[in-house]
Amino acid sequence: MTELLTLAKYPFLNDSKGYVKENSPSVEELLKDPLYERARVIGVERLDNAFKYRDVGNRSLSTESDCIRELFSYPIARMIAVCVDDTYFKRRYALGEAVHAYKNLIKEPAFFLLKISKEFNLGIQHFKDTNRLSVHFTDYLRYAPTRYKEWKMINRGVHKGYISISQKDLARLIQEALRSRINNELDSRKCNNIIYKIFSSDIKRFQNRVMMHRKKMEAAPIGKLSIDKLPPCMKEILVAIQSGENVPHMGRFALVSFLNSIKLNVNDILKLFSSAPDYEEEKTRYQVEHISGSTSSTSYTPPGCDKMRTYGICPVDKVDDLCKKAHHPLSYYKAKWKKDMKKEGK
Ligand code: SF4
Repeated sequence: MTELLTLAKYPFLNDSKGYVKENSPSVEELLKDPLYERARVIGVERLDNAFKYRDVGNRSLSTESDCIRELFSYPIARMIAVCVDDTYFKRRYALGEAVHAYKNLIKEPAFFLLKISKEFNLGIQHFKDTNRLSVHFTDYLRYAPTRYKEWKMINRGVHKGYISISQKDLARLIQEALRSRINNELDSRKCNNIIYKIFSSDIKRFQNRVMMHRKKMEAAPIGKLSIDKLPPCMKEILVAIQSGENVPHMGRFALVSFLNSIKLNVNDILKLFSSAPDYEEEKTRYQVEHISGSTSSTSYTPPGCDKMRTYGICPVDKVDDLCKKAHHPLSYYKAKWKKDMKKEGK
């Protein structure tokens, strides 16, 4: 039973997938048989909760049947998410699964986290004598939410390529690794027609909800910003943040300092970020206010094109003619304004 309970709590594990594969009825039965009605309801509930609360939610797992239903609901939720066919929705769902897993993982012993780390190919060192954990810096950079102060590399010591982390930190890294894995998996799958037919009313309901959310965001005026005049680099970073990608600190810094330089105030910048599936106002406000100089003595200027290239945040395949003349994203923005005004005969 303990084993089954673990599989139900972590349905993304290889063992859980193996269990579903071995014990699952045919797809037809899973989707149509009244016996699996509750699993289907939970599948939809996972998506509803992820969208509303950024967590797929807790259900009772006290009996074997509860655990089995929970396990089967996971692939159902994923298949529906694919059919909703909207990046924001899929990112939000992936976040809901990952956050839920994190809340369970922080209650688990170290050996369990180490076992899961292996499934995500995380380079973790465990010093049994002191119970210390450390992660290889490449994995740290890939998954650490470095947009938060406590996760910045500068606040962490590196020893022979490894960074010391707590058990809770490891759970957080697994959260990000899981989120990224689910994002990739959902993006690579196609909608199954049977799923679309059976869950069509829920799929349409989710699509409408995303549309309403988007309309609300678009209706909110964003100061003097003209998105179509942004240079390709800033557009890329903005889209990545809004769709919930784990944008490195330098990318966020470049965008916020750029928006601040074109005189967008803190609330307008927050409005742009607020459509991200993992948006947290308090933490984002802290960063934005710091970079824009409202809570620090320095107002930072955005990096120039050379520096952007060095940090790998200039999308070299998307640079256009204006990029070739400008040496700074701000020069690009000004040149684009002039060019468009000339075109419009102003
Ligand atoms: S060349 Fe400069 S302005 Fe153009 S995308 Fe790259 S960093 Fe941005």
